[in-house]
This record gives sequence, structure tokens and C-alpha cells, in this order.
Amino acid sequence: MTIIPSFSESLDDPGQGSQGTGTVSKSSRDNKPRRLEVLSDKQSRLDQNLELSLRPQILRDYIGQSRLKSIFEMSIAAAKTRSEALDHVLLYGPPGLGKTTLAHVVAHEMGAKIFMTTGPGLERPRDIIGLVHQLEVGDVLFIDEIHRLSRVAEELLYPAMEDFVIDLTSGKGQATRTMRLPLPKFTLIGATTKAGMVSNALRDRFGFVCRLEFYSDEELGMIVRRTASLLGVQVKEEAVKIIALRGRGTPRIANRLVRLVRDFSQYKGISPVDDALAAEALEAYQVDAIGLDPTDRRLLEILIDTYSGGPVGIDTIAATLGEDSDTLEDVYEPFLIQKGFVQRTPRGRVATPIAYKHLNRPIPSMQLNLELT
Ligand code: ADP
Repeated sequence: MTIIPSFSESLDDPGQGSQGTGTVSKSSRDNKPRRLEVLSDKQSRLDQNLELSLRPQILRDYIGQSRLKSIFEMSIAAAKTRSEALDHVLLYGPPGLGKTTLAHVVAHEMGAKIFMTTGPGLERPRDIIGLVHQLEVGDVLFIDEIHRLSRVAEELLYPAMEDFVIDLTSGKGQATRTMRLPLPKFTLIGATTKAGMVSNALRDRFGFVCRLEFYSDEELGMIVRRTASLLGVQVKEEAVKIIALRGRGTPRIANRLVRLVRDFSQYKGISPVDDALAAEALEAYQVDAIGLDPTDRRLLEILIDTYSGGPVGIDTIAATLGEDSDTLEDVYEPFLIQKGFVQRTPRGRVATPIAYKHLNRPIPSMQLNLELT
């Protein structure tokens, strides 16, 4: 069974975004924006420790993604009634939306252990064999960045996923021998930010293929409240809203913003955090009222000022910005597309009237027509 939406839909659909209302802090066009830890896809040790302590354990505490949650609720209950492992699951979506967290929640709800690894971590056959060897019935094997699995690893996984066996080969040439080892029925949960890079053969072996959506402001508000209370920070309701609005629909970023606001309020000796303090804290970190950081704004500036609004290829934007195109595609672009600032067309990226407005640039007549239609 495959859960909607399909891959083509997810990759091509730019999503309907609301119009930005925030102000633009004028970043110098000559200065390459400083990569902010706030929006970075990289995780510091502090982040990792924080995430461990904040991660919800059970489905009830997992906020948002209601469609996925109800499907998992039903499937987990059914699998438990039959005393079977849950079907294999592929989770995809931008970083920080809760793929790893959901895998932990599923394992917890199934009363199973979880083994974590990454696509590049399974380079050699013995990496996989060493891992599957430890599995027991119902356990979850979580493979992050599954699109980066090597061909050999992928081929070893096919029979493991389908028939719960693994083929071991030894010797070379005519002396090659293959031995088939049975495996306990386990659940493979794969996660990726690049659904289009997962081969069809691998994708077809997942029972569920699920896209994680950006969180609404209300859902992010619930996450902000929960995180603030777990961190012991008092945050007024209006400040919760400000943090949620700047969290880019992403729990990891919202949690980072709560941490920054907490540090700022401790430094200033002000508690509880009110809207003015939250806004001041986040402006200090150059996150604007709708969550855009200097890299986002520079990307839009390049698109509008250097390339007359596009269309322009992502590699060209990346080269002009001095950023890695993978990072632009995985970390920055999904939110800009979702908010309706950028459109992805077959000829390249195009800035929308919303982007012109956000940067206080006059909307060219062609774009104006686009807005009116
Ligand atoms: P991904 O694997 O998609 O990059 P993670 O699962 O690591 O994202 O999520 C990052 C952090 O965001 C988690 O540690 C957790 O604290 C928080 N988080 C993610 N999803 C949720 C959720 N649905 N409800 C509450 N917190 C969440």
C-alpha cells in the first residue's frame, strides 16, 4: 500500500503559501550572508542533546501530521493484534520535520527496539550484516539519508525487506558461494530529504510512502509551548505566536528559536518572555518576521536583482550565492516554495510577486499579470 501523495506530486507541486508580512532587514548585497546556526541543517552537539530531551515518545505527544498519525495509529494497532511487524515505511520531507522522531515513536508504540544508521554508513555488505544480525522480531531498522545507500547495500536489502532473508557471498570466481540467512520480521523505516533520488526498485518495496508536511503556525505554537515548558522558560502567549511564525513550519527550527529566546531572556534578566522580547531576540539573530534568514533574502535578491526574477537554474543561484546547491534545494528552497516566494519551473526558479513585495522591489509588469490571473 502506498500513501498519497505521489512523488511527482510532491516534487513538482510548489504548494500554496500565504503572503509574507514581515519586514526585510537590509542585508548588504556585497556581504555574503553569515550562515546562521538557527536555520542551518547541521546539528551541533547542543542541538543533538536538546533534541533527545525534547523528542516526543508516543504518538499522542507527536504534534501535527494528523493524517500520517491516524494512519500509523490504525496500522500499529492492526500489526500488534496480529503480532506482526509493521510494514516498511519511507518518510520523506525537508530536514527537521520529525522523520527521526516519528521512527522512534513507531518503535516505542510497537514496543520494539530501534537500530539507527544512515545510507552512507552501510557502505560494505558487512555493515548491513552486522546490523541485521542484531534484529529481533518487530524491531525497527531506521536508515536516515536512505537515498545515499550504495548499490551493493541496496541490493542486499531487497530480499531482506521482501522475504526477510539476506544473501551472503564468500569466495571469488568459481569458488563463490552464496548462503541465505533468515532474518526476523523487522520494519525498515527509511528517511530522506530527496525522494526523487530513491530508486524505484527500493521505493516499491516500502508498504507506506509518506510525505511529512510543514507544520501550521498553530501546530508550531503547540511545539513551542511544549519545548518552553520542558526547558523551564516562561513564555507569554503572544511571544509563543511570534516564535511560531518565525519557525518556518519546522519543529527543529522552532525549538532552536525557543533556546535562543531563553538565552536572550536570561541575559536580559527578563521573565516571562513577552512579544517585544521574543521579537528583539530573534531580530538579533537576523530571523525576520516570517522566518527568513539572510541566506533566504540574498537568494531572493539574486533571483530578482541579478537575474531579473528568473527563470534561473539552481546551480547558477548557488554559484552566485557561494552556497552548496544541495543545501539550497534541501534546506532553503522548500520553505520559500511553500510560502509562495519562489516557483520551480522546467526552465529554472522564478521569483513571484510575493517575493518582490517582501523585498520592497517594484513588481515588473509581467509578474503583475501573473498576480492578476
Ligand atoms: P528529521 O528527522 O525530519 O530531520 P527530527 O525528527 O530529528 O527531524 O526532528 C527534530 C526535532 O524536532 C526533534 O528532536 C523533536 O524535538 C522536534 N519534533 C519533530 N517533530 C515533532 C512533532 N511532531 N512534535 C513535537 N516535536 C517534534
